[in-house]
Amino acid sequence: MDYDLFVIGAGSGGVRAARMAAGFGAKVAVAEDRYMGGTCVNVGCVPKKLYVYASEYSHAFEDARGFGWDSTTPDFNWATLRDNKKDEISRLNGIYRNMLDGVNVDTMNGRARIVDAHTVEVNDKQYSAEKILIATGGWPFVPDIPGSELAVNSNQVFDLESFPKRMVIVGGGYIAVEFAGIFNGLGADVTQFYRGPLFLRGFDPDIRAHAAQEISKSGVNLRFETDVESITETDDGLELQLSDGTSIGADAVLYATGRRPHLTDLGLENVNVELTGMGFIAVDEHFSTSEPSIFAVGDVIGGMELTPVALAEGMSFARRQFDKMNRDVEYDFIPTAVFCQPNIGTVGYTEDEAHAKFGHIRLFKSTFRAMKHTIGGRDEKTFMKLIVDKSTDRVVGVHMMGPDAGEIMQGIAIAMKAGATKAMFDNTIGIHPTAAEEFVSMREPWTED
Ligand code: FAD
Ligand code: NDP
Repeated sequence: MDYDLFVIGAGSGGVRAARMAAGFGAKVAVAEDRYMGGTCVNVGCVPKKLYVYASEYSHAFEDARGFGWDSTTPDFNWATLRDNKKDEISRLNGIYRNMLDGVNVDTMNGRARIVDAHTVEVNDKQYSAEKILIATGGWPFVPDIPGSELAVNSNQVFDLESFPKRMVIVGGGYIAVEFAGIFNGLGADVTQFYRGPLFLRGFDPDIRAHAAQEISKSGVNLRFETDVESITETDDGLELQLSDGTSIGADAVLYATGRRPHLTDLGLENVNVELTGMGFIAVDEHFSTSEPSIFAVGDVIGGMELTPVALAEGMSFARRQFDKMNRDVEYDFIPTAVFCQPNIGTVGYTEDEAHAKFGHIRLFKSTFRAMKHTIGGRDEKTFMKLIVDKSTDRVVGVHMMGPDAGEIMQGIAIAMKAGATKAMFDNTIGIHPTAAEEFVSMREPWTED
C-alpha cells in the first residue's frame, strides 16, 4: 500500500485526523481540491466572525456618544474588509499546509475519487491505502426557483464585488440569521424571509421569540411565513416575487437554506458505502462505513454540523485506528452559538425536549438591560434561561441571548458536562458587574411542574 491512511478533504475533520494519525506514526496523504482548512477557514466560521466584528463597530460608534465620545460615524469600506479578510485567510491556508508538512503528511491539490475500497485517484494518478477517510464536508443548497442563479450562496457572499445597499436573505437558520446581522451592522437595508412562522427552528422557543424581537429592533426587516417565488433582473438590480403576492427590490440576495453532504463525483458507486435517508454517509459510533476500509467524519455524516464536532470526530477516529486508544465522541451537552447581534449561546435541552425527557422541570428566566446600554442608550435586552430536571436538580438546559453569549456558554457547558445542579449554580459566587453573574443569581422559578 502507498499509504496507511488516505484522507479526502482538508477541512476541520480531515486535517485533524491526518495530523493525529501521522503523529501516531501512520503514513498519510490528504487530497484537497479547493482550499486548505476547508469550509470553516475559507467560507465559514473564520471569515464570518471577522465580518461580525466589522459589523459590530457601527453599534459601538452609536453607543459611544452616550459615554462622551462626540463623533460622527466613519464611512465603511467593503473592499477594505473583503481584501483584508482574503489576506488573513491566505495566512491561515499557509499555516494549515505547514502543519501537515510538519508531520510529513503528503498533500495533493486536486479532486479525489474513490476507485475501489483501497484506491483513490487524484489528478489521474492512483494511490493505494489501507484505510480511506471521507471528510468532504457539505455544500450550500439553493432551491430551484426561477432566477435562483441570480442569488448568491454562503460561499460567494464573502466576496461580493460591491456592497449591497439592499440585501435580501432567505432562510431562518444559523447562516441566514448571522448574515442578516452582519449586513445590517455594516449599513445595508436588510430583509430576511423565512418560510415558517418563527425562525431558528430547533432552538428553545423563548430564545426564538426573543431573537425575533431583538433582531427586528436592531433594524432587520423580518418577514416570516413568506418565501421567494422567483427572482428577475431589472435596470435597478434584482426584483423578487414573493409568496404573498408582493415583490421587493434588492441589490443582492443570499440564499442560506441549508447545506447538503458533499458527495459529487466522489466515486461512491465503486464501493459499498451506504447513505442515510437524508443522504449523509452512514457510519457507526467509530465512524466506520458499511465498507470496512472506508470511514467518514464531519459534516458529511450529518448530526451537529460544527467545527469542534468535526475536530472531535477526526481525533477519535485517528486515536482508535492508529493509537488503539478508544475514546468515543460524547454528543451530549454540545454548546453552540449563533453569532447574531447580540449572540445566542445555548447548551443542553430546549424546554420541549427537557419536558419530554425528564417529565418534571423547573424553569428560571431573566430579561434585563445590560449595564453598558444604560448610558450607551441602546434598546437591547439580554435574555437568560435555565432548565432544571426537578428530580435530580441537575441543570439540563442553558440558553442566552445577549452580548458575548458565545463566550459565556463555553464555561457553562463544562459545568453541565460535570453534572452541575441548580444548587451548585446557586452556591457559586458571581463576578460583579457582569451579565454572566445572572446565571448564579436566578433564585425564583419562573414555572415548575
Ligand atoms: P469541511 O470543512 O467542509 O471540509 C471539507 C473539505 O473537503 C473542503 O475543503 C472541500 O473542498 C474538500 N473536498 C470535498 N470533496 C472533495 C474531493 N472529492 N476531493 C478533494 N477534496 C474535497 N461551525 C462552527 O463551529 N462555528 C461557526 O461559527 C461556524 N460558522 C459557519 C459559517 C458558515 C457560513 C458555514 C457555511 C459553516 C459554519 N460552520 C461553523 C460549520 C463548519 O464550517 C463545519 O461544520 C466544518 O467546516 C465541517 O468540517 P468538515 O471537515 O466536515 O468539512
Ligand atoms: P440550517 O439548517 O441551520 O438552516 C436552513 C434554513 O433554511 C432553515 O431555516 C430552513 O427552514 C430553511 N430552508 C431549507 N430549505 C428551504 C427551502 N427550500 N426554501 C426556503 N427555506 C428553506 O442551515 P444553514 O445553511 O443556516 O447552516 C448550515 C449549518 O452550518 C448549520 O446547521 C450549522 O450546523 C452550521 N453553521 C454553524 C454556525 C455556528 O456555529 N455559529 C454558523 C453557520 C453555520 P426550516 O427550518 O423550515 O427547515
